Amino acid sequence: MQKYDYLIVGAGLFGCVFAHEATKKGKKCLVIDKRNHIGGNVYCENIDGINVHKYGAHIFHTNDKAIWDYVNQFASFNNYINSPLSISKGKLYNLPFNMNTFYQLWGIKTPNEAKEIIDKQIKEYGFKTPQNLEEQALSLVGKDIYEALIKEYTEKQWGTKATNLPAFIIKRLPVRYTFNNNYFNDAYQGIPIGGYNKIIDGLLEGIDVKTNVDFFKDKNTLIDSANKIVFTGKIDEFYNYKYGQLEYRSLRFEHEYLKSENFQGNAVVNYNDTNVAHTRIIEHKHFEFGKQKHTVITREYPEKWSLEKEAYYPINNNENQTTYQQYKALSLQENNIIFGGRLAEYKYYDMHQIIASALQKAKQEFSS
Ligand code: UDP
Repeated sequence: MQKYDYLIVGAGLFGCVFAHEATKKGKKCLVIDKRNHIGGNVYCENIDGINVHKYGAHIFHTNDKAIWDYVNQFASFNNYINSPLSISKGKLYNLPFNMNTFYQLWGIKTPNEAKEIIDKQIKEYGFKTPQNLEEQALSLVGKDIYEALIKEYTEKQWGTKATNLPAFIIKRLPVRYTFNNNYFNDAYQGIPIGGYNKIIDGLLEGIDVKTNVDFFKDKNTLIDSANKIVFTGKIDEFYNYKYGQLEYRSLRFEHEYLKSENFQGNAVVNYNDTNVAHTRIIEHKHFEFGKQKHTVITREYPEKWSLEKEAYYPINNNENQTTYQQYKALSLQENNIIFGGRLAEYKYYDMHQIIASALQKAKQEFSS
């Protein structure tokens, strides 16, 4: 086998950005992926002119101009702004929590009225130093919003009580006293025109890529094929689970092609209630303002994770963090292996954070 400078295991965003940067420095890379396509979870399948986000909705957003400029090298972005809706007990609410939501909940029309209700509820139910997601939510938005729009969704999403979950998960959701349904606070946001595959193809242009290659099935030969390895898979699997398995939450996606033009009028609709098994329905054409006569929707079902299922969200509790730290200590002793990305760093990453992390790792690697 040809000798490469880097064998990159995993063709997701981390691997592709690293491969691109390494290639720019004149290094020879081979990128492998066990799936039959590149792009990891940002991969889109074009179904009859609609880019279907096969592994869940991906909406690009960042506050960092350098990261925005970086992705814009490979695709132009449209002006999509994520404004999800949530259905709770038969009623429709705007997200994130903003004046529209407060009007829908309480019929109030001014920020002062909303503030008065929320502050009162925070005083009554909130906690000075929230210890878990429930306490954090009650301290941020009070009881009504927590019960209507957070508790059931969260417990369905994570398969555990909100009191067992870390507070940081809910800090992602903005609370606003303006009529503004933009889910993100970041300065830059959009969907790449032509889909995420365009970015991945741009990143990997001129780089050797092999799909349907399972690193663990042919580890020794593959390791010998390069001077260094960039590993973006599960760190516990890399070390043969010697300290035990890290836990994840899995998802199941049910895609459906409909011969109607417009199923739900919005790209993302969340389903809060426990008695509905899915957490969201995505209608992909709305990410790109599609005008097709048909549509594709995806129901997203949270699932208990087991080894044969896809690992989506790290379960961030103390036990998993302790186990991860043991694996991390091992990884820090490696001279020729770089670990990066959601699975190798066991981290709930957004796309812009993965790109930042890969650029940082590449900078470290190529500055010496
Ligand atoms: N969340 C919620 N209600 C919603 C949407 C989100 O309570 O309608 C909470 C839930 O705990 C979830 C977290 O916010 O895990 C982050 O959700 P988001 O959709 O931002 O993240 P994603 O699942 O897309 O990574």
